[in-house]
Amino acid sequence: MSLETLDSGQEHIASAISDEVVIELSKVNKWYGEFHVLKDIDLTVYKGERIVICGPSGSGKSTLIRCINRLEEHQQGDILVNGVTMDTNLKNIDAIRRDVGMVFQSFNLFPHLTVLENCTLAPIWVRNTPKAEADRLAMQLLERVKIPEQAAKYPGQLSGGQQQRVAIARSLAMNPNIMLFDEPTSALDPEMISEVLDVMVGLAESGMTMLVVTHEMGFAKRVADRVIFMDQGEIVEQNTPGEFFNNPKSDRTKLFLSQIL
Ligand code: ADP
Ligand code: MG
Repeated sequence: MSLETLDSGQEHIASAISDEVVIELSKVNKWYGEFHVLKDIDLTVYKGERIVICGPSGSGKSTLIRCINRLEEHQQGDILVNGVTMDTNLKNIDAIRRDVGMVFQSFNLFPHLTVLENCTLAPIWVRNTPKAEADRLAMQLLERVKIPEQAAKYPGQLSGGQQQRVAIARSLAMNPNIMLFDEPTSALDPEMISEVLDVMVGLAESGMTMLVVTHEMGFAKRVADRVIFMDQGEIVEQNTPGEFFNNPKSDRTKLFLSQIL
């Protein structure tokens, strides 16, 4: 949680936003039992856009991004991903999941598989990619996240930062065009945070559409096209990082920023 994790003097990376809408949420509402966790969420995401979502613990950030690949089900409103409606139709859910990769706080690697096998399992078994081709692609991705030399090791033999980079490579192996990150550095020791953020910066530079829940404000300043602040199930405020940090509008945003910066 600091501006210093990435040097805040670094330039904002070039935007790659197109006018093509890839995610559209309209009046999305969700309850856990009686608890109203998402309240009338409207959100339009454009291809190539990088969005950072922040807000207090319990404000609904994880729930929001988990609804985008149906790890959670919303009860009211519409979610469209690449033009496909998120509903109970399994074909639609499959189509959406094919396009959307997700990286979690807790890595969630398969402990009994090597790093390489973690990255080839789904391409081989879900996509029917021939093993040699899946291996080749996985090695390319492990190079991209800068740990090709770890390919034959098991997750338990890696540091947290290395494991999270494997998780990113594994997700990219399914060739998503949208990536969701839920506090990807929150479980890491401080010295490992920047190696994961660096990989995410590289992904942003490649033009990937990204929704990132994080409190790494240095990352937000450098990478985000838009910062969204959530509180109590609502999008309270959203703006460019410059405006968001220098000129927050709502008292709730000001309070939040005063606590984390
Ligand atoms: P955040 O990611 O912003 O911390 P979450 O989306 O995880 O927030 O949670 C929002 C609220 O919903 C919290 O109060 C949390 O306790 C509650 N919640 C999250 N998941 C569940 C669940 N599966 N069942 C009931 N309540 C939940
Ligand atoms: Mg969360």
